[in-house]
Amino acid sequence: MNRVRCLVLNAALGPLDYKVPEGMEVGPGHVVECPLGPRTIIGIVWESERLPGTEVPAEKLRPLRSILPVPPLSAPLRRLIEWTADYYVASLSSVARMALSSGGALKGPATITEYRLTGGMPERMTPQRHAAMEALEGEQATIRELAGIAGVSEGVLRGLVNQGVLEPVEVDCDRPFDEARPDFAQVDLSESQKIAADTLSEAVRQKKFAPYLLDGVTGSGKTETYFEPVAEALRMGRQVLVLLPEIALTENFLHRFEERFGVTPVLWHSSLKSTQRRRAWRNVANGDAQVVVGARSALFLPFRNLGFIVVDEAHETSFKQEDGVRYNARDVAVMRAHFEGIPVVLASATPALESLQMAESGVYAKLDLPSRFGGAELPDIDTIDLTEEKPPHGMWLAQRLIDGIAERLERKEQSLLFLNRRGYAPLTLCRNCGFRFQCPNCSAWLVEHRFTRRLACHHCGHETPSPAACPECGEPDCLVACGPGVERIADEVAERLPDARVFVATSDTLNSPGRAAEFIAQVEAGAIDVIVGTQLVTKGFHFPELTLVGVVDADLGLEGGDLRAGERTYQQVAQVAGRAGRGSKPGEVLIQTRHPEASVIAALAAGDRDAFYEAETEMRREAGAPPFGRWASIIISSEDEAEAREAARRIGDARPDVPDLMILGPAPAPMALLRGRYRYRLLMNARRSVQLQDVIRRWLSSIDHPSGVRVGVDVDPYSFV
Ligand code: ADP
Ligand code: ZN
Repeated sequence: MNRVRCLVLNAALGPLDYKVPEGMEVGPGHVVECPLGPRTIIGIVWESERLPGTEVPAEKLRPLRSILPVPPLSAPLRRLIEWTADYYVASLSSVARMALSSGGALKGPATITEYRLTGGMPERMTPQRHAAMEALEGEQATIRELAGIAGVSEGVLRGLVNQGVLEPVEVDCDRPFDEARPDFAQVDLSESQKIAADTLSEAVRQKKFAPYLLDGVTGSGKTETYFEPVAEALRMGRQVLVLLPEIALTENFLHRFEERFGVTPVLWHSSLKSTQRRRAWRNVANGDAQVVVGARSALFLPFRNLGFIVVDEAHETSFKQEDGVRYNARDVAVMRAHFEGIPVVLASATPALESLQMAESGVYAKLDLPSRFGGAELPDIDTIDLTEEKPPHGMWLAQRLIDGIAERLERKEQSLLFLNRRGYAPLTLCRNCGFRFQCPNCSAWLVEHRFTRRLACHHCGHETPSPAACPECGEPDCLVACGPGVERIADEVAERLPDARVFVATSDTLNSPGRAAEFIAQVEAGAIDVIVGTQLVTKGFHFPELTLVGVVDADLGLEGGDLRAGERTYQQVAQVAGRAGRGSKPGEVLIQTRHPEASVIAALAAGDRDAFYEAETEMRREAGAPPFGRWASIIISSEDEAEAREAARRIGDARPDVPDLMILGPAPAPMALLRGRYRYRLLMNARRSVQLQDVIRRWLSSIDHPSGVRVGVDVDPYSFV
């Protein structure tokens, strides 16, 4: 019969059946317009046997409106959508939405009008026109973009169009990207790099699912190594996906990619403009985009001919999506490779315990790069016990660390101080009445930012100017900053070493690719002596003159009792330590701590990674934590506190009784108020044998809630707030 089943982009609806109109050729994967009441909704034609739905008699079916002018979503991508929805207990439509992530792309080919100089002269030259013409030499863009480039109004440019100085050009919105050349630059690989690269290249040629863990110390040249199989995929005419954890890191990556392949890769991340999105999406779909470098959402792009996936810095927690569909891009990447039948490599100097375990049990093949490239040594690591070497009153850096920086200043080398806290101080209070500045929308203190003279919430973005007087008691000049943030550390360095040129590197200061590039150039030119930075500077950067790394407070990450606190601290400190001594000069790392005996800190100081992983593995095994057991959480939220509490209570009352499954809660979440929503949570810990997702789905589907209540499921959670 001429009917199809569609997965429609509306989470409240199940699959819907439609009649295929005369003459329409439609099959699984086609993106179609479906009538729904008086409206039209986008759907994806699906294999009906995979989408159980209610059988509607043929005469009641409405006809599909049209097929959208995009290639059908491939079977491997459809399987990935099903798997992701199933594993993360999300609706199929919310996952499918991530694949159809450019509205513009679905509308088919399009052109835009851009303008460029003709070489002609205006009848009347004005200083503005002159400046504009100079600035626009060699540029071609829309009037609005040109106005931005030239720093003049759009009116000025329209005047130039009328005068024939600028001419319109019709441009294909989806024009192909420049071609990457697999053999643009030749690199000589070290022996161990070559073994790893050859293995991966061979896997690319095999076109079979094969997961790898590329375990290489910082500075071992993991990027150079995985560029070889990337080149191999290009030679075979196949597409490649490289996932990076942080878009701020891409600048450095793009540069290296260009040196190797002659062009920059295709970018994919959430802050692309809609024209860039549609161009990337359509080129990925038609197979022309060769190498896509992106954030986690790139995983759901409709590749036509994917041949290889790289997850760089695979241990990074930012691969975990924390709202909407809460998925872990590292794990979904492996599943995509599985469905596509291709190799995938997870690259890291500090792999997640879960990944190491997979390698140990033989599921992932392990490739090792045990030493730094070019003979650079790993840095010497030492701890500073803050209970013995106390910093001066009101300061945060021990004298030994300051002396270390001073030595580097003398030798014209650079230092990096790491503290994972943006702003000046994490808490501001009134000395007179004890008032503390709290976010009105979140259970969190407001963080003082001196650069911008504002108090800001790092959870919801709420901001208010720093007041001169206490808003509670009205006392002027009584507000005190408690604890350090990076800005305060920078002030301290400037005060104690007045000659040092200090730069604060955080997401506040490196908030655009341009700024990141400028920062890198300044460090490389030796214009910065001391970098004070958050986790943003712990990875990716390669500064040969940087020989000292100071960890301001290694204990910070260990507070809070998060399941992965030890591992995260280990990874962060090891990564930031890995920034030291990457050139010919040896590096030194000083870790400030109040607990030098803690197993994480001791392992770091001894450079004994195995000892740390062994201790951590035992701890997790005993706790039934991943990878030995599984966690999941249910987060219930509402703007109304009573409503949230009531919904949580009802879910709690309906808890299933399943062997080997422990359910804790409901209890107010540690962040009991977040972005204006009151939150409760339940935490589940299960043996691996428990079909956890099925249990959760059955449990939650039996309960209805008022429309203001949101119930989110987090499988394999990373965040416990
Ligand atoms: P990792 O990502 O493992 O920390 P990188 O890939 O950043 O290491 O490499 C460290 C430095 O060594 C980079 O500057 C890189 O260009 C250089 N490098 C690594 N391997 C080679 C090679 N085979 N030939 C030339 N330079 C290399
Ligand atoms: Zn807030």
